[in-house]
Amino acid sequence: MMTIDYTNRSCPLGQLYQDIILEHSKDPRNFGSLEKPDRHQEGFNPLCGDRVILDLKFDSAQNTLCQIRFKGEGCSICMASASMMTEEVCNQELSCVLKKIEQIRNLMQGKGEVIEGDLEALSGVKNFPVRIKCALLPWTTLKQALEETS
Ligand code: ZN
Repeated sequence: MMTIDYTNRSCPLGQLYQDIILEHSKDPRNFGSLEKPDRHQEGFNPLCGDRVILDLKFDSAQNTLCQIRFKGEGCSICMASASMMTEEVCNQELSCVLKKIEQIRNLMQGKGEVIEGDLEALSGVKNFPVRIKCALLPWTTLKQALEETS
């Protein structure tokens, strides 16, 4: 995976964000489905036509989300967000996953959360209100999936 030096603030960040989003949408991580998932959840964003289908497996002993795959179709922001999300939440404790979902929602509402890594690219989306739902769809779908499990 490519690493980017975010400390170099002279980078044209707008372009950089766009590159990360394009890269994820062209080469999505954890794309596909799981056999016998513990949870199957679909999300739809009628504003843009984005559709996200999540398959999850839990490790109940560790209380972690141990496998996640996504399928779907939609704009590059939605697909990139889903791709980043699967990398971010895999093998995490469920409480951490919920916290991460909250962080992303705050980020989109401009509440000044600091997010590291590729996810930072999504922060540029908050300046485009119509695209916020695109970026959040995978996360709200994941939240639904977790809430219906517990
Ligand atoms: Zn979209």
